[in-house]
Amino acid sequence: MCGIVAYVGSSNAIPILLDGLNRLEYRGYDSAGIAVARAGGIDVRKAVGRIANLAAEIQKSPVSGTVGISHTRWATHGAVTRENAHPHTDKSGRLHLVHNGVIENYQTLREQLQERGHEFHSQTDTEVLAHLVGEAFDKGGARDSAALVEAVRAALRQVIGTYGISVVHADVPGMLVGARRGSPLVLGIGKHEHFLASDVSAIVSHTREVVYLNDYEIVALQADGFEISTLSGSGADFHVSTVEFDAGSVEKGKYPHYMLKEIHEQPNTVRDAMRGRLSAEEATAILGGLNMTNADLRAVDRIVLAGCGTAFHAALAGEYILESLAHIPVECEFASEFRYRNIPFQRDTLVFVISQSGETADTLAALRESRRKGHRTLGICNNVASTIARESDGGVYMHAGPEIGVAATKSFTSQLTIFVLLGLLLGRIRHLSHSDGLNIISELEKLPDLVARTIELETQVAAIAKKYAKANNFLFMGRQAHYPIALEGALKLKEISYISSSGYPSAELKHGVIALITEDTPSLFIAPQDAVFEKNISNIEEVKARRGPVIAIGTEGDTALAKICDDVILIPEAPHYLTPILATIPLQLLAYHIANELGCDVDKPRNLAKSVTVE
Ligand code: GLU
Repeated sequence: MCGIVAYVGSSNAIPILLDGLNRLEYRGYDSAGIAVARAGGIDVRKAVGRIANLAAEIQKSPVSGTVGISHTRWATHGAVTRENAHPHTDKSGRLHLVHNGVIENYQTLREQLQERGHEFHSQTDTEVLAHLVGEAFDKGGARDSAALVEAVRAALRQVIGTYGISVVHADVPGMLVGARRGSPLVLGIGKHEHFLASDVSAIVSHTREVVYLNDYEIVALQADGFEISTLSGSGADFHVSTVEFDAGSVEKGKYPHYMLKEIHEQPNTVRDAMRGRLSAEEATAILGGLNMTNADLRAVDRIVLAGCGTAFHAALAGEYILESLAHIPVECEFASEFRYRNIPFQRDTLVFVISQSGETADTLAALRESRRKGHRTLGICNNVASTIARESDGGVYMHAGPEIGVAATKSFTSQLTIFVLLGLLLGRIRHLSHSDGLNIISELEKLPDLVARTIELETQVAAIAKKYAKANNFLFMGRQAHYPIALEGALKLKEISYISSSGYPSAELKHGVIALITEDTPSLFIAPQDAVFEKNISNIEEVKARRGPVIAIGTEGDTALAKICDDVILIPEAPHYLTPILATIPLQLLAYHIANELGCDVDKPRNLAKSVTVE
């Protein structure tokens, strides 16, 4: 959601900033802008819509310089207009600022600033930040980098809310200031140049040496150096990390869309989720990042899983997987609800928060609330340096590589794989025998190949997608651990094709959903050969009796489904705790091909943002 890219060095900043913004495009935005310093002043260009519009604006009226800030806005306060696009400026017109996040007390601050003679030119909450910093800077008198940092500090002390910001001032040429609270910001270290970005993928083609800033930190950067301090004015310890992936992993390669590329990466990403984590000797999973001994884990008598969107569906599937493998009661919560509920938990409750980006605002708040209450709170995230990863008591990384497609795919199957590892670990401490453990390990080792075989169904799924692409409404159904997979299938389809779709436990059909069945409403049933196969068959019959078209996902070798369903997709046979992973893949492919068939922008669906960093 929204993006910041800033540069200070000796190269032309424009291509660096535009390239960085393009790399953040997947996160969702509605307008973009840039401010570049030149001798004596700062040039600003803004455009509504795509970054290409901003590039066209710059081509029409060129700017150049070696110091600049840029932004993609995802509007939270004020309409999508040129005036509301960032950067915003102060009273002097010499300071320019970009901001990700939300300033909660902006109304009060705005009124106070207006009383002091400041005029506002946008409806954004952000504009107060520009005025506050500018006012503090002008009051200070000095016109140097230390004074600008001090002004940012003074301004941010008055602010309630979340921010990642970058500031440039015409009176302090050759330097930028950045600061964060609740919205990510990373400093990139180059040779005689420095970068600032809200996401490392924006700058990884220039440098892999980075410093992930912490909340309440301020960085001042120049071509030849940087200084990090805290909002309270003290120096800050920092650590230079090397980014694990290279620029190639944030490119599409041979695929037309990131989403398709990421679907096809799943044989590797599920393997990477398990890599080094299976011990045949101990017949269990090794998850050192949990920071818990077996005795600690043995004492856990309840698990709470919290997440949003796809991560919440992973939690729901995780509930079935953990309960069946580890026999521990599990409860799932929307992170957005968890943060405001006051759930009476027993002492030995373990909380997991799940977020691909590790920056999801609601999930982060759930983590903080859970820790505030004294529960051991662990994270399952993909982004190694994310806020959730840093603030949790421990956790499990997905190691899925950057996920650029807005519709989550590979992160979901990695999350499910991690729940199987957790189930194995917790189960082995309780009732699973050594040979049970070995058996699960051997099944897990087969998973990447089974995933690859399932992806080979793509041609068949694409043909089915073509057949049903014109439907106005889609129903997805499954039982047990496949019910969350049905929810996820429906979410994928609505996210990228805008077709109204919903997921249900199959048996819910007769309790109301059946009213929706018509000849034009396809129902997709996840009905592999399992303990509830016959029950699913009965539910399918109920739909067929009302002439509803049925697509079924079954197990290879099945012949019963073909007799009653319009279309059947057969996935490889696997144990009950792995089938949900395999069943997910045709649903991802179905959504992808339907959206493509309809000409939708698969990687940048309307209104959506990749990592939802606002509440
Ligand atoms: N709240 C700010 C606005 O609406 C920033 C939004 C963003 O994070 O892009 O302009």
